[in-house]
Amino acid sequence: MRSNSTYKTDDLSIFCCQNPDCPDFGKRGLNNLTVCGIYGAYDYRLIRCRTCKSRFSERKGSVLYNSKIDSEIAVSVLEHLAEGCGIRKTSRLTNASLGTVARLSKMSGEHAKKAHDVLVPFSPSDK
Ligand SMILES: [Zn+2]
Repeated sequence: MRSNSTYKTDDLSIFCCQNPDCPDFGKRGLNNLTVCGIYGAYDYRLIRCRTCKSRFSERKGSVLYNSKIDSEIAVSVLEHLAEGCGIRKTSRLTNASLGTVARLSKMSGEHAKKAHDVLVPFSPSDK
């Protein structure tokens, strides 16, 4: 089993509550989150919000949510795709299956579109 620790940090300020009914939903750096458990084959953290008492996976809200792929392999796949490698080439170079590469490509594209739609309204206007 691979170590998943490369992509983990003790700093929980990069996370936010994932409960849409919580007053702290989507707000980072409030110090309202704690790690309340570990789960899965790769020791994913279960995060708890002190405000609404809900618990959620550290992967919720990310491309890797509900994915069983190791973070290191997923990051490698996404890096190859970002550099312009095709799905077959990425599959060969990362030893991930064609289906996994295609799924990650589709999900990361959808995730990037959502991030774009949220971030663009805050961009300075073009003169
Ligand atoms: Zn909450």
